[in-house]
Amino acid sequence: MFVRELRTSVDRLRGVGPTLAHTLAAMGITDIGSLLSYYPRDWEDRSVLVPLSHFSKHGKVCTEVQVLAHDWFGFGRMKTLKVHVEDETARAVLVCFNRPFLEKQLHIGERYRLYGHFFYKYGEIQSSSFEFEPINGSGTKAQHNTIHGKSSFGSILPIYPLSSGITQTQLRKIMRAALGEYAGPVEDEIPQTIQKQEHLLSRADALQAIHYPSSMQELEEAKRTLIYEELFYLELMVGKRALERRSDNRRKKNSDETQSEKKPGNERGAFPLSPLQRQLVERLPFSLTNGQQMAVQQINADMEGPYPMARLLQGDVGSGKTLVSFMAALRAIELGGQTAILAPTELLARQHAENAARLLEPLGIRPAFLTGNIKASSRAPLLKALKKGDIDLVVGTHALFSKGVVYKHLSLVIVDEQHRFGVVQRSAIMAKGDHPDLLMMSATPIPRTLALTVFGDLDVSIIPDLPPGRLPVITHLAKQANEQKVYQFVAKELAAGRQAYFVYPLIEGGGDNTEANTLKDAQSMAKRLSESIFPQYRIALIHSKLDEDTKRASMEAFRSGQIDLLVATSVVEVGVDVPNANCMVIEHAERFGLSALHQLRGRVGRGQEQAYCFLVYSDSLTEDGKNRMKVMLENHDGFIIAEEDLKLRGPGQIAGIEQSGYLALGIADPVRDAAVLEKTRKTAFDLLETDPGFLFPENRVVAEVLHRAPPFSSMHF
Ligand code: ADP
Ligand code: MG
Repeated sequence: MFVRELRTSVDRLRGVGPTLAHTLAAMGITDIGSLLSYYPRDWEDRSVLVPLSHFSKHGKVCTEVQVLAHDWFGFGRMKTLKVHVEDETARAVLVCFNRPFLEKQLHIGERYRLYGHFFYKYGEIQSSSFEFEPINGSGTKAQHNTIHGKSSFGSILPIYPLSSGITQTQLRKIMRAALGEYAGPVEDEIPQTIQKQEHLLSRADALQAIHYPSSMQELEEAKRTLIYEELFYLELMVGKRALERRSDNRRKKNSDETQSEKKPGNERGAFPLSPLQRQLVERLPFSLTNGQQMAVQQINADMEGPYPMARLLQGDVGSGKTLVSFMAALRAIELGGQTAILAPTELLARQHAENAARLLEPLGIRPAFLTGNIKASSRAPLLKALKKGDIDLVVGTHALFSKGVVYKHLSLVIVDEQHRFGVVQRSAIMAKGDHPDLLMMSATPIPRTLALTVFGDLDVSIIPDLPPGRLPVITHLAKQANEQKVYQFVAKELAAGRQAYFVYPLIEGGGDNTEANTLKDAQSMAKRLSESIFPQYRIALIHSKLDEDTKRASMEAFRSGQIDLLVATSVVEVGVDVPNANCMVIEHAERFGLSALHQLRGRVGRGQEQAYCFLVYSDSLTEDGKNRMKVMLENHDGFIIAEEDLKLRGPGQIAGIEQSGYLALGIADPVRDAAVLEKTRKTAFDLLETDPGFLFPENRVVAEVLHRAPPFSSMHF
């Protein structure tokens, strides 16, 4: 049996009743397989004795002591027991808050094994959080530290992530029972050849040791084995998907059209553009940047190629990805298909739709806008037109792939700000077409290794340059106490005809919530700014709780210059493009993450005017917040900011990736384990090349795994 084949329900284990089973189910544990694959988040090493004088400030240590004396301090109900202990190296005091009964369990003159957190206080080594066990079975019935009748001392104990309704001790006990009963016969999933070559443990041993290692070294081996195995299968699935896509020629191409469009016009020695693309470029008041040209070229080549495109377009905020996506849409439409552009917010979808109408309608393209908020009366004819093929390009939110939406021939799917979408949503929209081309766009750069893992065989285009003439946004840090200076500065810019954003972390002030009360919020600041700070200017408020019509009206007014100042929450973070706005004031800036700050700052500096970003921070600035402010002050490049973000937040925390369910990994972390990832990628791809059917005897096991219990089966590659 492979571990995922252990489908016996957990309630078959002794001690697991309906309530506990319910709790476990909420933690994703339903059967023995998922239980055994629920790995500890940490381990307590009680296997090594540490002399008292060597206690660690940072973690718990295990030590052996003799009890010297009992002592009390405080009075009445506050009366607290102090137990004086010593070993060969030092003396210490155990402070037994609320545990007076320990007087009867820690006997003077006897020896105990202790496990606890020690620190210096009042010139003594102290511990108030400790567990203990008598040595040589002396002492009384102080057996509350034992698990399943076995001493927990002298071993390494797992620490599991828990939810309410279950204790560490309970889960340890269940895990031990499951390991004892089921883990022994668990089969290996990796070919023997690879296992030997990489010095991996057997699956059964690794499973045992990841939960209850006999030494820290064995724990490391178990981790290495499980990480390797997980990443090997991840890359195997990725590689398999790549092969399938390459052999996926089902997409019907109109051969006449492909013939005549093969070498699109190239008169001016420019890069090859199709007729419609050329028309668009000629109508623009600027020319495409080199990065945009390269991207369009790569996209054209993909769309004319033999298999569906799967391309990620990365470019910093303001690099002009929207235009590239329109160019792609034009090509798809010329080839006789329909294009859908999926945006994460209604605000952004509307902006794209407006741009499409402005730029593409003159070329004879029929664009449409579809979101969940469209009234039934206009929705029905729209859906009909989409089905009939009377619409060439539809821009919208997730409504684009809702049930009643049928396309005549959806041949290109564009996902803007792709990190905001999960794989499920991505596949839902892809399913509306017959192997459509896919173009994903993101301003949040993904480290290369992660891109390989997450997107497998995705091709990547990068727009490295911003349109010419853009001046870097000048960033200032300001203490909240100096807000007046910031407001004065903005007033000067407004007087010169510019526009400004003011962004706040909260929509409204909290009632009794004291913290929220001390924070400025968008609603009250909109009032304050318009009444007492900028009374002569027109101000609008925008946040997610407002209805769509109000939002649209405010956004339109801001875009057209009828509004001077837009007070907002982070709803304006993605995509919003108003080139005349040149001031971005972010109050309580320390409350925003780096990627949000970068996105927000990217809303300005889109025109020819010098732009400014003010990061106004409150006094309660944490070390973390300070670091983020510093990164923003010193960097402008989104790729570098993303790297810094990764450093500050640690691996596995990249914006949007976990939430969107890209990585359903158990123990591996593609950032931390980048080296292993590269290795498994090579091994898996080599295997797919030499033995794609897994027919060699040593590779049979892979075929078995994929057939009987495929890993990552819930992921869409
Ligand atoms: P992002 O990559 O962040 O999505 P946008 O597509 O919103 O960027 O483009 C930002 C702004 O730059 C828009 O106002 C757009 O019209 C403008 N723009 C795009 N390409 C160019 C170019 N080649 N030259 C000048 N301005 C451009
Ligand atoms: Mg954009």
